[in-house]
Amino acid sequence: MKYILSKANIGALAKVAHSRALLAFDFDGTLAPIVSDRDAAFMRPTTSALLNELCARYPCAIISGRSRSDVEARLCDARVKHVVGNHGAEPWPETAELEKETAIARELLAVALASVPGVDVEDKGYSLAIHYRAAKAKGSARAAIQRAVRKLPVSMRQVGGKMVLNLVPTRAPHKGNALVDLRAAEEAEIALYVGDDVTDEDVFELDQPDRLLGIRVGPSRRSAAQYHLRTQAEVDPLLATLLTLRSGGAIA
Ligand SMILES: [Mg+2]
Repeated sequence: MKYILSKANIGALAKVAHSRALLAFDFDGTLAPIVSDRDAAFMRPTTSALLNELCARYPCAIISGRSRSDVEARLCDARVKHVVGNHGAEPWPETAELEKETAIARELLAVALASVPGVDVEDKGYSLAIHYRAAKAKGSARAAIQRAVRKLPVSMRQVGGKMVLNLVPTRAPHKGNALVDLRAAEEAEIALYVGDDVTDEDVFELDQPDRLLGIRVGPSRRSAAQYHLRTQAEVDPLLATLLTLRSGGAIA
């Protein structure tokens, strides 16, 4: 995994800036810093301003695990062209089935996990997020969640995350599918994608080095991303670099 903001690797960003390119971003932990209260996650004003400028120069997309309306409400005034929620499943034509499966799972999990302190089942319409950030005994909370999930009668894909287990109906498209669809819709030669978590690996694992530049926030040996940023705060210099290169400027 290479550091994208090093001098040696700026050329990879220049290639994006000089192509018909789609820029796509995860939200939490990528555009917005991770915070303990998920309702309090917002972009820094600097990030928001940079994103707004980028949207005038590139087609941009957010592909988030949050519901679409939730993430849209966090974009302030940025004119993002595409907003995809629920890990790639929203919008999608076959959502009625996803809603049904998600509702069945939510009801059963609410009963099974009612007595586990600090566990909270978030219903996002087309997927669930079982949060355990507030649990004091995280190991036993995780074990209780796993036991409850194993008993579900519907087929749900488990996607790990930071103090959360996401459950997405198996038939639903994932972030990688969403990115490929958006890239095709924009007739883009290449897509840049930035993400920080397990669910973003569905994009990184596409393994299309000529058509996808994958950047992980934080280096990780287990990630399939080609490049990384060191910290979430470095998303600002990344966005600024993409702006400068697009307008033909040089990077010092
Ligand atoms: Mg994230």
